[in-house]
Amino acid sequence: MQLSFDSDVDEFRAEFSAFLDDHLPSAAETLERPRSVSHMPQWARDWQRLLFDNGWLLPAQPPEFGGRNASVLQQYVHLEELCTRRIYHSFNPQGVNIVAASLITFGSDEQKHEWAVPVLRGERTASLGMSEPSAGSDLASLRTKAVRDGDDFVVNGQKVWTSGAHDADWLLTFVRTDPDAPKHKGISALIIPTDLPGVVCRPFADLCGEENTDFNEVFFSDVRVPAANLVGPLNGGWKVINGSLGHERTMMWLGFADRIANSIADFRPSNALERDEFASTIMDYQALRLLGSVGLAQASRGEVDVAAVSIPKLLGAEAEMRAAANALTGAGPDGLIHPSTSGPYAHMNLDHYFASWFERYARSFSGTIAGGTSEIQRNIIAQQVLGLPRG
Ligand SMILES: Cc1cc2nc3c(=O)[nH]c(=O)nc-3n(C[C@H](O)[C@H](O)[C@H](O)COP(=O)(O)OP(=O)(O)OC[C@H]3O[C@@H](n4cnc5c(N)ncnc54)[C@H](O)[C@@H]3O)c2cc1C
Repeated sequence: MQLSFDSDVDEFRAEFSAFLDDHLPSAAETLERPRSVSHMPQWARDWQRLLFDNGWLLPAQPPEFGGRNASVLQQYVHLEELCTRRIYHSFNPQGVNIVAASLITFGSDEQKHEWAVPVLRGERTASLGMSEPSAGSDLASLRTKAVRDGDDFVVNGQKVWTSGAHDADWLLTFVRTDPDAPKHKGISALIIPTDLPGVVCRPFADLCGEENTDFNEVFFSDVRVPAANLVGPLNGGWKVINGSLGHERTMMWLGFADRIANSIADFRPSNALERDEFASTIMDYQALRLLGSVGLAQASRGEVDVAAVSIPKLLGAEAEMRAAANALTGAGPDGLIHPSTSGPYAHMNLDHYFASWFERYARSFSGTIAGGTSEIQRNIIAQQVLGLPRG
């Protein structure tokens, strides 16, 4: 099936594509590599600023926030152009796509300009402090507490898995402000600068290697945070969480489709069994794009559909993992050599997408966890899409 767009969307794509042709920095300019999702070398900051100034950073936003009031379909082709060229619009993806986007939705005018705009312009970076040791899927159980004291909140507690926190200037942090309210109703959102006394970020390695220190434990000990840093209403943080996760999940399937497409391009099967599995990957990829396109068409008509988010998220995450497993099996012992490369160097992408097949396989697990685990997606689909009773 051939999907096509209206002429305004095609024109939008052509304009963005020409912009990329004219302005992409060269590989030589990008030698310093980002070490975490909140670490941006100067070239990455300049690149993001260029996109912001030209309305190509978050196209759905108005020009003051780095966009051009783009439609849903225009946003889609923007992402598609970035994906097919293996480039990133921002090397601080949580900061731009989740933290700044949440501030634009829920923050006051002052907060938008003080906190969101510097992140969008690449002058500051931000990370997302949601998960805790006992609050991941069940985020509403979070225990980091903030107690009002004069003009400040005093924050105590711990976050974990906070990607890039050690390199971030500030964290969008979810805290418990009313311990007596039902658990969804006593949560608030605070912007916490990482240089405040009492904030300790402890990066730790992931399973791909000791040098990969993106995850953090973040400890808060009597941290005094100005009350002006409260985002949204006091005890109204659950709405901000849902908004933040909504930003995270929007068109998430396209990221999976992109990485599966990369696997298809980078791996060549060499026997009948591998070819059989390779064909399954190509079918998964086509199914994902078609399902995603159905959701996209619904979103462009202004319809909100839970299935359109959870089904492609689940399919995409698991298909990416199967594709990487097939390629790793096909590569045999060579797939374990580290460091090594399994795809073309893409200087405007994160380096782990051209790493060894083992690393690409190991990283594919993250899609089944971040943004809601596969089990949670299955629960949502069972209850909210199929209408099955709770077990
Ligand atoms: C690459 C990556 C980046 C991340 N970055 C960030 C970040 O920047 N900031 C941040 O705050 N967090 C981040 N996270 C954390 C992520 O949000 C959590 O890992 C996720 O919400 C799951 O929580 P958990 O790890 O505590 O697992 P748990 O919730 O403890 O789940 C453990 C297992 O139990 C299953 N399970 C739990 N509840 C149910 C249920 N009701 N029914 C069936 N099965 C269930 C889960 O599916 C899972 O298999 C990141 C995670 C990854 C992988």
